[in-house]
Amino acid sequence: MPRNIAKGMLGYLSKYLLDRLLLPGNCTVFTFHRVLSESEYEAATFQRSIAVSDVALRQFLVGVKSRFEIISLQEMIDIQNSGESKGKRPYACITFDDGWYDNYTHAFPILKSLEVPATIFLSSDYIDSEAGFWWQNLGDALSCNDLTQSQVDAINLLLCPLVGQTIYSGWNVDRIIEVIKEQHYDEAMDITQAVLDVAGQVLTSHGLSWANCVEMSNHHISFGSHTMTHPRLSLLSSKELDDELRCSKSSIKAKGLRYVNAICYPYGDSDKNVWSIAGKYYDIGLSTALGLQPLSEKSCLNIPRVNVSNILALHSSRLNYRLLRASLKR
Ligand SMILES: [Zn+2]
Repeated sequence: MPRNIAKGMLGYLSKYLLDRLLLPGNCTVFTFHRVLSESEYEAATFQRSIAVSDVALRQFLVGVKSRFEIISLQEMIDIQNSGESKGKRPYACITFDDGWYDNYTHAFPILKSLEVPATIFLSSDYIDSEAGFWWQNLGDALSCNDLTQSQVDAINLLLCPLVGQTIYSGWNVDRIIEVIKEQHYDEAMDITQAVLDVAGQVLTSHGLSWANCVEMSNHHISFGSHTMTHPRLSLLSSKELDDELRCSKSSIKAKGLRYVNAICYPYGDSDKNVWSIAGKYYDIGLSTALGLQPLSEKSCLNIPRVNVSNILALHSSRLNYRLLRASLKR
């Protein structure tokens, strides 16, 4: 049998298996972060795994809409609580993490025109703030082509204790960011600020404004918490953890947004201690682990999701493979 016919048959079989047997009874919660224009996406040199182009997002949503019943996160909570699932097709939710300004400029027009509900998880300290996300600022500084050799040497000295001697063989910006993500938030901010100082740059903001959020609230976009400062929650003291979970909720609710009582854990970092505090304040918690959420489950402080990269958004065969893997996780 020719290879392309075999591949086509395999694709048809996996889609049939997914849509008829594996996806129904579950909600597939898709994760996005940044949404860039095609030229911005092509020009991006780091953190491409957390970005999709606007073209890819539209194509993905059109495909998902034809296959799933796209519901809001609040509707998913209501279905779980009532035990009543009315839809004939499998359910899906669309989520965006962090609160990037590009969610307003690039994602919102697409969501609005396709009438797709979505939830944006806000790290509240970055909204309407001069402070930008540290990893984007650090990546921008390291990707700057104008650095002199003495600036490069000084930055190597700063990064070496965290990243190791490999720093001297050239900068892999994504790897440097991944290593620093393991640190306490204060240390990540300190090292970012030190690198920016050496590079002669200042913190740049990338977050939404509250006015952006209010406008989107009027068009089926809801907002949940992604903490205040985007820390690794498992590294915090009990008081810090409580403050991050409680204060982000109260600051988002105070703005009168379409609110969903959900917490999304930064970096997907959570444990039993985090879940016990999160359960005091939130109905549900979302992780970054791959999986589908069974609608029959009522206690949901660790809901798995399906992260959507640009290539996944553009290729349904890749999406089907990811969904197959997600369905086998439980
Ligand atoms: Zn995040």
